[in-house]
Formats: sequence, C-alpha cells, structure tokens
Amino acid sequence: MGETQAAVQVETPSFDCPGNYVAANPSALRCAKCNRPLDVKDAQRTPTGYVCPYYVRARIATFYNANLSHYVVAALIALVLGVVAGFILNLVGGIGFFAIILTLFVAPVLGGVIAEAVRRAMRAMGNARGQHTWLVSVVASGVGAGAVTVLPALVLLAAGFFSLFALIPMLGLAIMLSTVAARLRW
Ligand SMILES: [Zn+2]
Repeated sequence: MGETQAAVQVETPSFDCPGNYVAANPSALRCAKCNRPLDVKDAQRTPTGYVCPYYVRARIATFYNANLSHYVVAALIALVLGVVAGFILNLVGGIGFFAIILTLFVAPVLGGVIAEAVRRAMRAMGNARGQHTWLVSVVASGVGAGAVTVLPALVLLAAGFFSLFALIPMLGLAIMLSTVAARLRW
C-alpha cells in the first residue's frame, strides 16, 4: 500500500525555474517544473505539462552553450571550405552542356560537406551547440564561395561581358547555402 501513499504525496518541484515567476492572476494551474502558480495566459505547453515562461528561457540558455571562439572556428571552417566549394562550382559550371545538371547534383553535396565539417568541429570542441551556428556557417561559406563565383561574374559584367553560363555557379551557390542551412538547423 506504500505505492498509493507515494502517489498521494504532493509533488516536489523537479526544477527551480530561475526568475521567480509570479502569476498576474490567481490560478489553479501550476508550472510542471517549479510548481509555482501559473497564469493561463503565460502557460507554455510541453510534452511533460504546462510550464512557466522562465523554464523555457532557462532551457534555451542551457541547451545552447557555444561561445564566441566556437563561432569563430565554425566561421573559419565554413569560409575555407566555401572558397574550395566556389572553385568546384566554377569548374562544374564551366563544363559545358551538362553544367546545370551536374551543378544540381554537386551543390547539395558541397553544402552537406561544409555542414558536416562544422558539425564535427563543434562536437570536437566539447559538444558545443550554438543557436546561430547555422547562420554563421551560411554567411561564412557564402562569403568564401561568393568571392570566387559572384565576384568574377560581376567583374565580367562590369566589363561588358555577360553570359548566362556565369549564372550557373551562382545557382549552385544558392543551392549549396540552403543545404548548409537545412543541415545545421536541427
Ligand atoms: Zn516554472
């Protein structure tokens, strides 16, 4: 009969949400984590019940632990690989008749390689998780690849030469960057 007694016992808070949330209105609802009375309009639904807004904020803060140095490493990796990817996109884009088809195959692979390299580096640095890792990686690889694809095309355009084939590496760049974003935005 000890089990039924245990079930009747008042639940002790499993987590003390920081910020000392106070419900603005009297409420019978309680935060599933800190057990403070919880205003219905502030209640956030989670798989384990309704929680106060401070719990959600605390979880986001502890989940993302990356600092500036992690972001710098991610940016450098994405930048260097972006430059390499840009050269590959130029090469594939200049191949001739099958350039577009090849680009459609190669660009997502390049994006996948960049995302995986960043992911592994973050893992190697003590499982660093950054809320903005995906964005940093997209911008850095975009700058790197753009420097070798977009820039020469702009120079040619400014000089009066325009070729539709110059747009193929840029198409590849767009596909590559969307792949980087999709792979890193877990
Ligand atoms: Zn709470």
